[in-house]
Amino acid sequence: MPSEKCIALIAHDQKKDDMAEFAYQNSPLLSEWRLVATGTTGGRILDVCPHLNVTRLKSGPLGGDQQIGALIATGDIDRLIFFVDPLTPMPHDVDVKALMRLAIVYDIPMALNRSSAQILLNDLARSGT
Ligand code: PGA
Repeated sequence: MPSEKCIALIAHDQKKDDMAEFAYQNSPLLSEWRLVATGTTGGRILDVCPHLNVTRLKSGPLGGDQQIGALIATGDIDRLIFFVDPLTPMPHDVDVKALMRLAIVYDIPMALNRSSAQILLNDLARSGT
């Protein structure tokens, strides 16, 4: 049964294959948590892991990153996994920065690439909190 705790998942376009693979490989761990994701990222995760409990928000460029930031501000997100593409200019770059800023303000453990995301999930599996 999924925990009340919640992980937010986001991947930029060039990182979505990576996120889908990461979710697939870690689906037993992820299934123990409530998940929220930006629209397209959530769709890609559900394509490979239809059993996961993923709430899809708006697509990032249409406000999804800001929605996740708002959930951080209200205390509804416990971990942030954000596969950032550092090589492509984004129209919503300011939203990405704002989201990371809130994750720092509220001291939310945040992983910005796959290897740190794996460490974050492994720690969750070990500590359960
Ligand atoms: P997406 O949004 O999952 O809807 O593509 C992610 C982003 O680009 O911030």
